[in-house]
Amino acid sequence: MMAEEAFFTVNDQGSPLARYGREQVQREFLLWDHISPGEGVDADASAAIIASALGISAHRAERLGDVVAFLRRLPRLRALQLELFHLDMYRLEGIWRVLQVAKDELLPEIDGLLVELLTPTRPQQELLGRNAIMNRIKAMLDELDPEISTREKSTRDCPEATTHLRPDGIGELNATYSAEIVSEIDQLIRKKVEETGLNRADALLELIRGVGQVRVVLNVYTAKDVPEAPVYVPGVGWQDATVSAELRERAEQIRDLDGAAQEVGTAYQASPKLRAFLIGRDGYCRFPGCTVPAQRSQVEHCADYAKGGATSAANCAMFCQHHHNMKTDGRFSYELHPETGEALFNFLDGTVISTMPQGPIAPEGARWVQTVGQRREQRRKRAREEATRVIVEERKTEPEPPF
Ligand SMILES: [Zn+2]
Repeated sequence: MMAEEAFFTVNDQGSPLARYGREQVQREFLLWDHISPGEGVDADASAAIIASALGISAHRAERLGDVVAFLRRLPRLRALQLELFHLDMYRLEGIWRVLQVAKDELLPEIDGLLVELLTPTRPQQELLGRNAIMNRIKAMLDELDPEISTREKSTRDCPEATTHLRPDGIGELNATYSAEIVSEIDQLIRKKVEETGLNRADALLELIRGVGQVRVVLNVYTAKDVPEAPVYVPGVGWQDATVSAELRERAEQIRDLDGAAQEVGTAYQASPKLRAFLIGRDGYCRFPGCTVPAQRSQVEHCADYAKGGATSAANCAMFCQHHHNMKTDGRFSYELHPETGEALFNFLDGTVISTMPQGPIAPEGARWVQTVGQRREQRRKRAREEATRVIVEERKTEPEPPF
């Protein structure tokens, strides 16, 4: 196969829109990079001066200054940014935000992993969105510094439920949990709405009152060939070691997805196994820029079923209702790569966009699990060597027998 030049759609030289967008990003980035105060400058005064000159709040001026200053501590990512200008301030701010808890000594390794994640590998590749980037960094941190999840848990994951009765006769209920629990509650509400036709608030009330039992199946993903592999919750992302262990413990049924990629069905409906495989491969609706999770999407036949298209992983992908309808209406077509799962979209005006599957069993997700597995194995090996050395040293220091 001939090697084609890899680039993100935002860097597409053939698109006037992309060129215009990059000029904007470049200008804004260089502005902040230039005015961001260095060490030893009165940050408050500087933020106030910048804010009034640009007509923005001092808080925002300070924040964006911090974001570009922080990027100097990720020199490889910064060099990539100065070459491509693909990361807008919104994405950079997301990267900055999630790395606030990272220890300094981890930054060089994170820098390398981020460059890998944010370097294009295919032509017309869609750049990851802010949330996807933040979730991947979170997963990197969980892995590089397992203490972080424990440290964060004490403040972040502390569940809380408050009620507020307003004088106008309305009451408000607000509850905070970790993301995977809210995802479970959301699925319970959806199921209840589906069964009863109630609105979401009434459905929640019935759940709380215990009217009619609702059961949802939470599908989570993990690798069977990697010991203590991280667990992926659809719509939420990779979980840290603690939550992963809890989820493994809760599993009532394990479905082996081996062979699902080769399954070729004759019925229009995908089998539960194939559907589970497609959700795990795609992660989200495959349409460019769509963030509807795959478990809330539908199985779409790339080559129409009516025209002989198979119900198989090679011919099916997950699309949300809206984008499924667009495909049915012929407003775009796409080709699906049978092995990598890459979807190459063709729009009526000639635009081509490539989206990669983002789920845990997509090639990139599988590589991540392998990396984690190897890292944990190295950690265990180091711990074993350490233990052996201690024993050997203890032996060495044993007193000589008196005779
Ligand atoms: Zn969609």
